[in-house]
Amino acid sequence: MVLRGLAKAKNFTLGPTAPMKSFSEHIDPKIKTRKLRNRSGESHHFTDQLQNKKLYDYELKTKKSFDDIVSTLKEIAYIQHNENFLKNAQQISQNNLGIDLPSYILEKSWVKPLDMRALYAWCVFKQHAKFSDDFFKNDPLEGSSGSIEAKNFEKFLLDCGFHLLDITPCSDGRLAHTVAYVMRIPFSAVRRRSHAGALFDIENTVNRWIKTEHKRYREGVPNPADKDTRYLKIVTYHFSSVDPLHQGCAAHGSNDALAAEEGLNKLNAFRESVENSFCCGASVDLMLIGLDTDTDALKIHLNSKDGNISLENTVSTLDIYNSTIDKSVDETSQEICQLISNYSCEKDLTGIENLFIN
Ligand SMILES: [Zn+2]
Repeated sequence: MVLRGLAKAKNFTLGPTAPMKSFSEHIDPKIKTRKLRNRSGESHHFTDQLQNKKLYDYELKTKKSFDDIVSTLKEIAYIQHNENFLKNAQQISQNNLGIDLPSYILEKSWVKPLDMRALYAWCVFKQHAKFSDDFFKNDPLEGSSGSIEAKNFEKFLLDCGFHLLDITPCSDGRLAHTVAYVMRIPFSAVRRRSHAGALFDIENTVNRWIKTEHKRYREGVPNPADKDTRYLKIVTYHFSSVDPLHQGCAAHGSNDALAAEEGLNKLNAFRESVENSFCCGASVDLMLIGLDTDTDALKIHLNSKDGNISLENTVSTLDIYNSTIDKSVDETSQEICQLISNYSCEKDLTGIENLFIN
């Protein structure tokens, strides 16, 4: 295997890779993680317990379907020289994993030891296919196109003054759950394409903006072109509060400030490109968000006085959570409104501020 060990090789320069998994004993004990405060055993008023449970159950079920592979294969390896091996192996695989194993591999067990690597690869791909089929056929997170959640979110987005939400997270696997889990947005209601370091391609994104606006002119979808709504582009970079110097974004050398700055540069370049290429006030709205991969807390960059996104002026959802844990729903809403704008009432917020609070 020519590629074996390539990710660990010191002279590996083909491109950025996600950092290797770290274990808690290797983390400097001096680094303090900011933790969620507890409200005497109760959760925050804004915590959606039902949704949390649904997402947690789905996560557990998905992880278990892959975790069961090794124990199942060990059970099969143990009986490979017994009578009726083929039938029994298929039975175990069906009971534990719900998949059939390739008989052409099992049949060779009387000649040589079972090819466990081939079986393992088969099981991983089969489980992945099963999990994908289930996701698109049964919509376990209830976020598919046409679902009630998707329709509600699309209406909310239009009410905020946006006809399309386009998110670019970093392609690091730790951000795979950004839309459905962290932001709690139905997956079909956003355009999502990840890029290393969240550095999206300007030309492709301008093309997608053109297609969106063209559809509004030709078909009035999602709303007619004469409605005063904007295309909202979000960049989600990431950082690590537990091990900031090693577990941040590999594409930016775990430099959080650089990740934010580069994300903002891309956003501004996208807006400039749209404004320079199309006249008549054509423009887009932009948002820059940081995601802490250790706590799932969001760092939202606010607009500075000149209307541009500020790299320094941010609000953290973890700080808001901790400061409002003992407050009522109304007091919490007021505090959030105050933080993201100079207003203390939800009805005074503009579109993008409204999107923050929800
Ligand atoms: Zn990254």
